[in-house]
Amino acid sequence: MPIVEVQGLRKTYGATTAVDDVSFTVAEGEVFGILGPNGAGKTTAVECVEGLRVPDAGRIRVAGFDPVREHDEVAKVLGVQLQESELQAKLTVREALEMYSAFYADPADWRPLVERLGIAEQLGQRFGELSGGQEQRLFIALSLLGNPRVAVFDELTAALDPRARRETWQLIRDVNTSGVTVLLVTHSMEEAQHLCDRVAVFDRGGIAALGTPDALIRGSDNPVVISFQPSQPLPEAVLESLPGVVSIEHEGAKVVIEGDDDTVGAVTSVIAREGITVHELRIVDATLDDAFLRITAGAGARPGRSGTTREES
Ligand code: ADP
Repeated sequence: MPIVEVQGLRKTYGATTAVDDVSFTVAEGEVFGILGPNGAGKTTAVECVEGLRVPDAGRIRVAGFDPVREHDEVAKVLGVQLQESELQAKLTVREALEMYSAFYADPADWRPLVERLGIAEQLGQRFGELSGGQEQRLFIALSLLGNPRVAVFDELTAALDPRARRETWQLIRDVNTSGVTVLLVTHSMEEAQHLCDRVAVFDRGGIAALGTPDALIRGSDNPVVISFQPSQPLPEAVLESLPGVVSIEHEGAKVVIEGDDDTVGAVTSVIAREGITVHELRIVDATLDDAFLRITAGAGARPGRSGTTREES
């Protein structure tokens, strides 16, 4: 039995339909990503799962319980991340842990938790004095106090620098390895690609795609970008005759070819055959960014592609 089941969920705010006919399930032990541009309905859907909002239609079960009618049971299963505004800046880390522990009949011991999350040194420090990464570690600790079966993290790393983000990803992985299912709301494709077993790509209130990050990327029309600087120009006809080529661009002396795995093999043999040396050869797999842009084409948000020189057109 899936630990989270959402079927035909619909939620409107006045004239705005925030979520329409959304269905997905999360298996116990998964890291499940809810991905999509701003305004796509991610938070609304997750708030319905948490029982914070009452759906207009559809069926939701968390560990078999209805989040609205059986809210107390669902609260025992879910570890929900606080929003920053919910924690007073003057509260120390220890006070926050003690205060939130008091909400649970049988809370987790927070001492090993803060050791594991690397904030044991900060116990006497006030919340307002913590770095962004330390804040998020505290939020993770607080969300785990009730020994949840499912932890819900919403844009946990959005405000962090790259190092703190990677450290937080590792912590999320550790949480998952310790047996907790993770429901992760993010608009970072990179984050989803690193962490999630499966993702649901939300777009304009619906789910536009659902699957493993790899499957979504494989669905991309042109999964590989090859770029290099040849020692002498390669005839355009030779480039065009390569298998799997989708586009060829020249950026100064650099050649950028979009293609697939066959193109990669063919490019390297053409280079060898023509006796050409190349500089700065790069082969970049398509990312979830590409998949996301394709899936949500026409939506408002158009995040930039990472790791390549190419612009989506
Ligand atoms: P996301 O989390 O993907 O950014 P949201 O679920 O927050 O999306 O929002 C989906 C849509 O619902 C947006 O158009 C948003 O403006 C609208 N919306 C969200 N919350 C409310 C609310 N409390 N009242 C009215 N409209 C809302």
